[in-house]
Amino acid sequence: MLRTEDIDRATEVLRGATDVVLVCHVNPDADAIGSMLGLACYLAGQGKNVAASTPNGIDDLPRWVEVLPGREHLVAPRELPKSPPVLVCLDAADLGRLDGLAHLVDKAGTTICIDHHRTNKGFAEINLIDPEASATAELVYRVIERMGGRYGADVAACLYSGLVTDTGRFQYGSASPEVLRIAADLRERPFDHARLAQALYEDGSLAYLRLLGTVLERVRFVPEARLVWAYLTRKDLEAAGIPIQETDDLIDLVRTAREGDVAAVLKEQVDGGFKVSLRSRGDTDVAAVAEAFGGGGHRLAAGYTSKATLDETIQKLVDALVAVEPEHARS
Ligand code: 5GP
Ligand code: MN
Repeated sequence: MLRTEDIDRATEVLRGATDVVLVCHVNPDADAIGSMLGLACYLAGQGKNVAASTPNGIDDLPRWVEVLPGREHLVAPRELPKSPPVLVCLDAADLGRLDGLAHLVDKAGTTICIDHHRTNKGFAEINLIDPEASATAELVYRVIERMGGRYGADVAACLYSGLVTDTGRFQYGSASPEVLRIAADLRERPFDHARLAQALYEDGSLAYLRLLGTVLERVRFVPEARLVWAYLTRKDLEAAGIPIQETDDLIDLVRTAREGDVAAVLKEQVDGGFKVSLRSRGDTDVAAVAEAFGGGGHRLAAGYTSKATLDETIQKLVDALVAVEPEHARS
């Protein structure tokens, strides 16, 4: 639960602001961008000057950003004010996740962090952090509710994008009756729901389908670690002609194997090393595992970056998983 005094402080700062800068985490997903643009649209509607950006810039964002209202508020990182009076950081669990935009936190007048990662220790002046929230978009909805509540289809489409994706299309335990009521309230606004859903979930390419064939052929199972895993190299991506941000749903396929509890996808990075995505089907706290490797996230969805080779990275992960007792086995 958010503390009332924190929401009140945040809404007071936002109400009094004339200029607000909004940023989200590196390699942004639909909750990061959706909650950022949703709040940007709302604040713009309240007459504020808003500018939003991501550590990845704004030119190589996922394709679905094209259907989100509020993308007109996106500006290149170099065009952001150097010392924004008010800075809002969305869906970012720590300063590192803001990557090249982290310096703004020191330069800003007041920084507000809105996030739902359990591993977030609160790096801002005002921290609206609720690990129980299904998505950062849910928290933005609550802030808007507190600020007056009137919002239109533009805000709704953005927040709905965060909610539907972070709940696995309302599949995970976090999709509570209250979250479904919020989704219904958002859906009352006249945005093109079918078009948005298609952009988020059915906008791959033939080349990506074929790449999936290659990667799924490589799926391995490590029984003692209850781990199902696969990997993707830069060479795979180059051969397929696909940008890495179009492979975000790979982990959602690997996690469907009932033999394992933990699913991992390792993606080779441009500068070497691997970005590791972890998911649990319910019995393993993967945030704790990711945190031990310098990353973070949620109990059932987390990630980290490894500088080691593929073999070393997977061996360390197997060792870490063998050392943790599955939660259903605990007395
Ligand atoms: P994904 O595997 O989709 O990149 O991330 C899964 C979850 O873990 C997301 O909530 C994401 O914010 C978090 N996460 C992924 N990588 C990192 C990381 O390197 N550090 C932290 N703190 N969180 C991460
Ligand atoms: Mn999120």
